[in-house]
Amino acid sequence: MDAVASKTPLTEAEQKAKHGLDKLSKRLRHAVGDAINDFGMIEQGDRIMVCMSGGKDSYTMLDILLGLQKSAPIDFEIIAVNLDQKQPDFPEQVLPDYLSALGVEYRIIEEDTYSIVKRVITEGKTTCGLCSRLRRGILYRVADELGCTKIALGHHRDDILETLFLNMFHGGRLKAMPPKLVSDDGRHMVIRPLAYCREKDIERYAALRAFPIIPCNLCGSQPNLQREVVGQMLKDWDKRFPGRLETMFRSLQNIVPSHLADPKRFDFKGLATQDAPFEDGDTAFDAIELPAQSPDHPFAAISILDSRDRTGGCH
Ligand code: SF4
Repeated sequence: MDAVASKTPLTEAEQKAKHGLDKLSKRLRHAVGDAINDFGMIEQGDRIMVCMSGGKDSYTMLDILLGLQKSAPIDFEIIAVNLDQKQPDFPEQVLPDYLSALGVEYRIIEEDTYSIVKRVITEGKTTCGLCSRLRRGILYRVADELGCTKIALGHHRDDILETLFLNMFHGGRLKAMPPKLVSDDGRHMVIRPLAYCREKDIERYAALRAFPIIPCNLCGSQPNLQREVVGQMLKDWDKRFPGRLETMFRSLQNIVPSHLADPKRFDFKGLATQDAPFEDGDTAFDAIELPAQSPDHPFAAISILDSRDRTGGCH
């Protein structure tokens, strides 16, 4: 039956879907490959613990990493780990079935953090902070038990940008979510291989690959409203000013401390004139180039002028 089915020519719609999936898959693989290279995320002999929540991001991360594992010039191991936090109605067979069918090594860890969170947090308050701290602690312990050298999380480019704005708006800090970091206890290396991937690509990829997504509202927690607001702001920008999110992400990789205002990052007190051009001098402002052909050009120009006006920065 399968053999007959496989010889049936694809319909036009199926061909289109296949072409779309191939293109998307290539783009995501490149983005993940670039992030791995740029940040030295994976080394020869690594044993990577791929954290699986059952959401679109973690399925995509595992899928792309397994693909890269086959073609990479280095050897590394992958072990998928899901933490079953005992939320009511958690479909506990979905991930084991999927991972067994893939033939990938995996572990399901059962820890009832749900009850702890419900007991400790007052009804109506956001539970995500405590829940993710508990989850992180368990995952670090499991990484030790499984002899993993890296812990891979499925945060993507849009998560990173959202975090940047949340930290600016609510934390008063210019800080995002790094593609690679060492845990607070100094003992674990966390990597985010999807750091260069756009959420909308991941969404489409997950839909085309028909991953068995587990809904993320099983705990009955309120959504993180601030994150949702910022996420919506980014989506609106992306629609109205195509390319803006890419540019914003590039800015995270192109920091000029002498043009910020943190005396801990730049020695403003020790700043002195010199008899030679100064690389980060005042011409740094001239580097703003707007794409002349972009239909959004006039709006982009206005928004930059607006922000200078409001901050009194036209001097
Ligand atoms: S949505 Fe629920 S499971 Fe997810 S972090 Fe928040 S409290 Fe935890």
